[in-house]
Amino acid sequence: GVEIFRPMRELRSVLHQGMVGMSAAQGIYRILDDAPLVADAPPASLPQALAPTIAFEGVRFRYPGTRRTVHEALDFTAAAGERIGLVGSSGAGKSSIVRLLLRFYDPDAGTVRIGGRDLRQLSFAQIRSMISVVNQDTFLFHGTIEDNIRMGRPDATHADIEAAAQAANIHDFVAALPQGYATVVGEKGIKLSGGQRQRVAIARALLRNTPILVLDEALSAVDAENEAVIQEALDRLMRGRTTLILAHRLSSVIDCDRILVLDGGRVAESGRHEMLMRRGGVYAALMAEQVNAQPAETIDVLPARAG
Ligand code: ADP
Ligand code: MG
Repeated sequence: GVEIFRPMRELRSVLHQGMVGMSAAQGIYRILDDAPLVADAPPASLPQALAPTIAFEGVRFRYPGTRRTVHEALDFTAAAGERIGLVGSSGAGKSSIVRLLLRFYDPDAGTVRIGGRDLRQLSFAQIRSMISVVNQDTFLFHGTIEDNIRMGRPDATHADIEAAAQAANIHDFVAALPQGYATVVGEKGIKLSGGQRQRVAIARALLRNTPILVLDEALSAVDAENEAVIQEALDRLMRGRTTLILAHRLSSVIDCDRILVLDGGRVAESGRHEMLMRRGGVYAALMAEQVNAQPAETIDVLPARAG
């Protein structure tokens, strides 16, 4: 029959799968504290591989017990391997899209699909085995760096972990520590910087190796010094995956295949960066706002990687 997952059970199952490398652990708690009971679909008799495509069709969504509709009528698709930027001011509903995609909530109207299938026909395990999320804050538990990275895939060997750490640009830092990969981090261990934690999250996601990737403000807590090295690691992580890049800061999405601008609970504009700039609408206005809000010497909205 249909099984009802209570919030704490769901949290445990999510953590058990190493979902999102736990980089969103705090967010998950916050989400699940007031999450409604969402019924899991019965397990598919033969769990077949689904294409890594995403579709939001006429999605209307409001958090239970609140009055404000976050998404009025959200329509967009992501093709396999496509890199989609989702921008909009703070509170526009970007992170809520991820919560719907992971099926923490069901929409009030409309349908969310992965591989053409309504999420309500897929099991939580199927959905979450396809998606990795890198957030602004990365949760590290009290344990070794090795175990913190291994959370992405519990059966990973030491060699797998080192390879992931290399690709995530964190290996050199770890190898230089007196205890190397056995160094204890988290509560009573050494404290990692925001940029180092971010690279642990990237290594976890590389190990998870899912066909869909979500970067939710993944660069916003990172200082300029770390940004290039993390961007390089993210570029490796994104390669070959369907990627949603959610960002308040527009510089993160300039290179996307398509940028969607969320405004008023809808996709107000979509297209490539140059096209949206020429259009002179919401995107161009957000861009102007961000340029003006920064001291001249730190303006980074133009692609620095071009040169
Ligand atoms: P963004 O990521 O674009 O900044 P969010 O999707 O996080 O926006 O939030 C959209 C709106 O939903 C905001 O008004 C926010 O306050 C509200 N919201 C977010 N999470 C919750 C929640 N768990 N319960 C109720 N309202 C929420
Ligand atoms: Mg957000």
